[in-house]
Amino acid sequence: MDFNQSPLLVIWEVTQACDLACVHCRASAMPERNPAELTTDQGYRLLDEIRTFGDPLMVFTGGDPLKRPDIFDLIRHSAGLGLRTNISPSATPLLTASAIDKFKRNGVSRMAISVDGPDAGTHDSFRGVAGSFDRAMFALRHARDIALDTQFQTTVTRRNMNKLGQIAERVAEVHSRMWSLFFLVITGRALADDDLTAEEYERVFEFMYQISKIAPFDIKTTEAMHYRRYVAQRMKAEHGITEETINTRGVVWRTSGVSDGRGFVFISHTGEIYPSGFLPVSAGNVLQDSIVSVYRDSSLFRILRDTEHREGKCGVCEYAKICGGSRARAYAFTANYLAEDPRCIYQPSMAAAHA
Ligand code: SF4
Repeated sequence: MDFNQSPLLVIWEVTQACDLACVHCRASAMPERNPAELTTDQGYRLLDEIRTFGDPLMVFTGGDPLKRPDIFDLIRHSAGLGLRTNISPSATPLLTASAIDKFKRNGVSRMAISVDGPDAGTHDSFRGVAGSFDRAMFALRHARDIALDTQFQTTVTRRNMNKLGQIAERVAEVHSRMWSLFFLVITGRALADDDLTAEEYERVFEFMYQISKIAPFDIKTTEAMHYRRYVAQRMKAEHGITEETINTRGVVWRTSGVSDGRGFVFISHTGEIYPSGFLPVSAGNVLQDSIVSVYRDSSLFRILRDTEHREGKCGVCEYAKICGGSRARAYAFTANYLAEDPRCIYQPSMAAAHA
């Protein structure tokens, strides 16, 4: 795909309303909907325009999308346009078996559910509501039983980094196609004490790399672009193969180069157009601006896609094209989205630095 023209993923935060109060919530979600959310008709128009990108993956997220009474109309419209449509609901009493059946009936191709621990004790303390682990597992099992694809999402923090092996067993148990590991960017309610050090990232990457060899599901990361660097290093060391060969292998490489604003665009509940949900710098608003023009031509998105425009070690790194570092984390730490990723341990070689 030419990421200068089209994103791989379009994420629309349809609402920030949610009945959970997760300790690391990006959206700092609240129980009530914001009256300034995009309306149903504005949503239809947005989806129509997103379709003109071509064939991006359309993801409805929140908050909790089920807090919008028109969510099934929006899903139907998206799927009716031919967009591959995914949804990321919260595990609350709104997520009933009949809601999941309705997702499938209206054209959802995959449902993503967040589970941050292998048991209720770990997960519920994270999510702030007792019973949410059981609801999440119920939803995943029900989807499995009706043959709706699922994505199992885990936010990796110091609370659960030593329990990832047990969580992986849960992923296999519910037959999820994908285990998506989110790494913290200190925004919203995310707590600095939960953030991993650069050394801890490497330990988690080694676990992911080893389990990816035997797991019956794919593994991908969000806001840990340097996992691709880690895999490239390990594969070269183990097999002596080149980056070109690596690029043809596995899901890590299908998303190679994707980062905030590069293959990725996020629309907030009020229509702001961000490079990602973790990089809340607006390049426009869908109520006034064309999302296609903003993605392709705004100075913000253009500079984020240009790997020549990186500072610090990300600016001289030989892995910049497949990694490039988290622009969102750089921004959260320094207010400069071009700075180096402060959670990457790698030191680019001197040859790369002087090239
Ligand atoms: S230095 Fe930057 S570009 Fe290089 S691997 Fe680390 S995060 Fe990626």
